[in-house]
Amino acid sequence: MENQNNYDFIICGGGLSGLILAQIFGNDPYFENKKVLILEKEIKSQNDRTWSFWEEKNSAWDSITYKVWNTAEFKAAHFSKKIDLNPFQYKMIRGEDFYKKLHENLEKISNITFLKEKVISIEDKGKEVRVFGEKKSYLAKKVFTSIPPSVQLHEKEKYPLLHQHFVGWFVKTENPIFDPETPQIMDFDLPQKGNTRFIYVLPFSKNKALIEFTLFSANFLEDNEYEDAIEEYLNRKNAGKVVVQDREQGSIPMTSYPFWNKNTPNTMHIGTAGGWTKSSTGYTFQKTIRKAKETVSFLKTRKPLDQMKHKNRFWFYDLLFLDVLSKHNEKGHLLFSLMFKKNSPELIFKFLDEQTTFREEIKIMLSFPTGLFINALWKRIF
Ligand SMILES: Cc1cc2nc3c(=O)[nH]c(=O)nc-3n(C[C@H](O)[C@H](O)[C@H](O)COP(=O)(O)OP(=O)(O)OC[C@H]3O[C@@H](n4cnc5c(N)ncnc54)[C@H](O)[C@@H]3O)c2cc1C
Repeated sequence: MENQNNYDFIICGGGLSGLILAQIFGNDPYFENKKVLILEKEIKSQNDRTWSFWEEKNSAWDSITYKVWNTAEFKAAHFSKKIDLNPFQYKMIRGEDFYKKLHENLEKISNITFLKEKVISIEDKGKEVRVFGEKKSYLAKKVFTSIPPSVQLHEKEKYPLLHQHFVGWFVKTENPIFDPETPQIMDFDLPQKGNTRFIYVLPFSKNKALIEFTLFSANFLEDNEYEDAIEEYLNRKNAGKVVVQDREQGSIPMTSYPFWNKNTPNTMHIGTAGGWTKSSTGYTFQKTIRKAKETVSFLKTRKPLDQMKHKNRFWFYDLLFLDVLSKHNEKGHLLFSLMFKKNSPELIFKFLDEQTTFREEIKIMLSFPTGLFINALWKRIF
């Protein structure tokens, strides 16, 4: 009798990357007869995060997109720029809506099972992979996991580790201080205190917005420091009485650490745990969709999973950028200002989406102070 705990594929972690990968399996006739299991330690239904990203108009996410913007603003102490995002739009999806839609879609697919189970360990035995859960153990031919691996300290030194860390308030203000058509993607007009610090604003109306105080830096702050910075921003803008309707908080690793070195012939790390976060910006949503599609194409080649190539020239650009940003953390505002000053928004977004030509990349790179980057390049090569 077929063992009911035997699967073709197990996906450990049913967050962003796990659900996207499962959805691609579910929509592809190639996987129609494959048994797929998703193991998730907490079945998510809450609005634990909001995802923002840019993409062209009309997409598969339109039905759950909470808000769309056609313009945005970049701001620093001595430079600001209103950006026409065309052909892109900046979009926001609430975690709650994403989980609901994906869970509903997956429920309709009979060969995909979703279980509430905490994964304790994963062992690639060569011919099969055993996943040890808190309640049971499971077998699969291939396993994908978005559970973060532990990163060794000496490896961290080779690949500097910064964090995009932030606290966000969903606020309702007495005074109409927001332009509902224009999110502030980075507002560096605040004391940098030796770091890269900015305010990020997603406006929903003239007096409702999500305001996040964000840092790209190595060390975290005390909780009250994030809250104080948001309060200072609101005071500066003369917000009047403020009601905090909800909060969000996060920390996204910014590192070029090659997470894929932990893959084995039958197990692959996916999502942030697989290096699917764009390390120079922390944006993950769109890259996850792209990487999940690439992973499925690779899976169909039947080659061992650890043979999938992940490094490309964009990985190297991000590595150099992080080398510079971790050494000169106080210069982040300058680097981003120069990028926005000297390049069209379309080119910048295309570059961050890793869709530019080498010629276009040279143009972007020439916007930065060359000395800093040549120094970083020299150290990486020699
Ligand atoms: C608050 C916040 C806001 C963000 N905003 C943006 C944004 O605006 N744009 C953007 O592009 N990116 C954003 N990100 C970054 C990134 O998109 C998310 O972190 C994204 O969720 C990463 O996807 P993932 O699949 O790697 O991890 P997750 O979505 O976190 O999924 C991992 C899953 O694994 C589960 N899990 C963990 N351990 C176990 C275990 N032992 N057993 C079973 N299950 C387990 C977790 O419960 C979780 O559901 C944000 C991140 C945060 C935290």
